[in-house]
Amino acid sequence: MSTTVLVINSGSSSIKYQLVDPATGDAVAKGIVERIGEAMGDIKHVHGDQVTEERLPVPDHEVGMREVLRLFDTKGPTLAQANVVAVGHRVVQGGEFFDGPALITDEVRDKIEELCPLAPLHNPAHLKGIDVARELMADIPHVAVFDTAFFQQLPAKTATYALEAETAKKYSIRRYGAHGTSHQFISREICQMLDRDDLKQIVLHLGNGASVSANLNGKPIDTSMGLTPLEGLVMGTRTGDIDPAVVFHLARMGMSIDEIDTLFNKKSGMKGLTGEADMRSVREMINNDAAPEAQKRARAAMDVYINRLLKYVGSYTAELGGLDVITFTAGIGENDAAIRSELAEALAPFGVKMDEEKNTARSSEPRIISKPDSTVMLVVYPTNEELAIARLAQPFAS
Ligand code: ADP
Repeated sequence: MSTTVLVINSGSSSIKYQLVDPATGDAVAKGIVERIGEAMGDIKHVHGDQVTEERLPVPDHEVGMREVLRLFDTKGPTLAQANVVAVGHRVVQGGEFFDGPALITDEVRDKIEELCPLAPLHNPAHLKGIDVARELMADIPHVAVFDTAFFQQLPAKTATYALEAETAKKYSIRRYGAHGTSHQFISREICQMLDRDDLKQIVLHLGNGASVSANLNGKPIDTSMGLTPLEGLVMGTRTGDIDPAVVFHLARMGMSIDEIDTLFNKKSGMKGLTGEADMRSVREMINNDAAPEAQKRARAAMDVYINRLLKYVGSYTAELGGLDVITFTAGIGENDAAIRSELAEALAPFGVKMDEEKNTARSSEPRIISKPDSTVMLVVYPTNEELAIARLAQPFAS
């Protein structure tokens, strides 16, 4: 009989869930509870062709989780029918304690709480989901899967900031990375696809949040996100790399730390440069000749976006001592052929050759999009963080 893992991603005002068969990769059912804590919440539950949408008050995560379990009971599949053997919880920050998934005991739960200062927006929200799920599904093992775990393998030379050592130690300041579950999943899938372990790989996870990793023979040696997911690439609403002195300057100009935090994390990136965080909207602006001012602004923002990508690819190639494969993944990486094409064009002097027909062909399958004689293979590979979490949680099944 096949088994499933219930994957839960609990945010501050939402609970996303997916029931995954780790053997086949199928999402048996999935859904989302949104607007938790507001006057009215929204719930969507999808099982096969059957979509259930409800609007009702969801004052807290406990009510939210009870509603999810009610929908499994009434709309199917029941958790017993689905043979759920583990619950996998996504956790953003695992600090230096977790270099892999962990069975959630009271001690592990308290460690996740201890790490809240390093991820003040995420870990407290995960804990709300973890606490109620453990209570409501007490007979199933619960497993925490950390976004940072894969990057605990980073060598000290890339994990360390050149910050005065005592302060760094006192406040646990180092580079933790993020999106690790996706980078691990993709880099391993590529090794399998090409049937090679000895690969110099760059993975570009380009979603709303975006990050790069450099992977040598299956291990990460560098990644663009740091203490928090703010560092690195230009993102939907985040600055990515910026001179830290901009913070001092803005503070001296009268902005509060919280205002600067919001400015850098929520109002910058593509949104800050163009007014739009969503890459599809930016693309529309670039293609719209009828609004030349907006078009110019969007094109200039795209130049910043691509240039940052190029810088990372260049520096990671040097760190890896060469490069075999670049893989594009996540919403933008998988769907925006123009960004892939522009990056390949910038890398053409190094012998990178894109096959434009393959690049622009509509497909949701993993595929090679470079020419056979390209010095670096270019691949599009859809990420699947829920499947990755399910696979990491399954070994803890009772
Ligand atoms: P996250 O999980 O970080 O929220 P996703 O991986 O879902 O992000 O990616 C969201 C991004 O993908 C958005 O910027 C969206 O515009 C972009 N995206 C989705 N489809 C396309 C498309 N066809 N062309 C360009 N960008 C796309």
